[in-house]
Amino acid sequence: MDSKTLSSLHDVFKEVQKQQDWKAALDKLFASLRGDFVFDNVVIYFMEPHLKSMDVLYARAMGRGKGLEADVSWGENFAHDVITKGKMVSKEPLKNIRVFDRLTQAYLLGFPISAHARKKGAIVFVRFGGPSYSENHIHLAALQAFWASAIIGRKELDEARSELDSVQRQMRLQDDFVSTISHELRTPLGFIKGYSTSLLRQDTSWDVATQQEFLTIIDEEADRLTRLIEDMLESARLQSKTLQFKFTPIRLDALVRDVGLRVNTHHPDLKIEYQFETLPAVAGDGVRLSQVFENLFSNAIKYAPNSKLTITTKSLGKKVLLSFADEGEGIPEDYLPFLFERFYRVPGERTVTGTGLGLYICKQIVMAHHGNIWVESVLDKGTTFFIELPADPTL
Ligand code: ADP
Repeated sequence: MDSKTLSSLHDVFKEVQKQQDWKAALDKLFASLRGDFVFDNVVIYFMEPHLKSMDVLYARAMGRGKGLEADVSWGENFAHDVITKGKMVSKEPLKNIRVFDRLTQAYLLGFPISAHARKKGAIVFVRFGGPSYSENHIHLAALQAFWASAIIGRKELDEARSELDSVQRQMRLQDDFVSTISHELRTPLGFIKGYSTSLLRQDTSWDVATQQEFLTIIDEEADRLTRLIEDMLESARLQSKTLQFKFTPIRLDALVRDVGLRVNTHHPDLKIEYQFETLPAVAGDGVRLSQVFENLFSNAIKYAPNSKLTITTKSLGKKVLLSFADEGEGIPEDYLPFLFERFYRVPGERTVTGTGLGLYICKQIVMAHHGNIWVESVLDKGTTFFIELPADPTL
């Protein structure tokens, strides 16, 4: 190999290496060498081991047949052949047929590639209408196939690593949860036990007002315990996908106002401002959606005390958008991606009780409605939760 070729290959290598994303790296790889090896389309197929079906991981149309990028079924059988043989395969259309359309004349060149031991695939180059692949072209294509295999292997490794990170984080959260939950269960139980024992004491007689005060505390703490246990059961059911949903047409504005009224009877100081647009109905489970709103109200009360809560609704054609905006301390940006994970609580000094289940439950319920929930937060300005739900298509 002469030094000019080597140096230009080295340049391509550096450029490909620089790309952050695996798709961009493949784009760069194929585009950079296309001057020396011309083809119309390239597709990377992977075999789904259980289903024995073919998945397209990557497809690019560079020349003739650009419109074919979305439809890459033309190479499926050929890719299957390449994977089964486990070596380079080339295939040319039958000669001596009268050709009317070049796109029917596919000159195929395929190489087996593998992302890891169990994931086998093939990279297929096609020239519509030829010409045949020269030996030099085959070498260049083999080099790209090898390179693409390394890029995809790296992608798989990155994905496996981030999955592992998430499992590890989940395990840590689960550990924290055990200590949080034992505290959360013991505190109300301690109150209930303490105040009921006091009331039952034979040697002391409590006046009616004090009795009333103690009983109110017992009552509230029993409610807190019930909520806690319900949250735990609910999150377990959502996790195991055994929670049943009953969908009916729902007017979200009315539902949010109902929940708001209920919240205000317990927390009369919470100032709620409604900025509502008329909304189409959604197909939803009223009980579950109320639970989502209750959680957002309750978080605003807990984490943004004394702040106003502004609730807006917007109609976006086939979707509706709700937002719950408080003016509290906000949440540091680094923690935002984890907020909806099971058991997650923002780290730091804790005065507010909780389990880290509320937003997880909200997310699962919204997802069961084919919707989306997300958060935006600015420190010292406040936090806004957004919920997007599809409008009921049958109404
Ligand atoms: P919990 O309230 O039981 O801790 P959630 O899942 O409801 O669990 O909330 C997760 C975390 O998100 C909370 O621990 C809190 O740190 C943070 N958070 C939720 N809502 C708000 C809010 N409105 N403002 C600031 N932080 C919030």
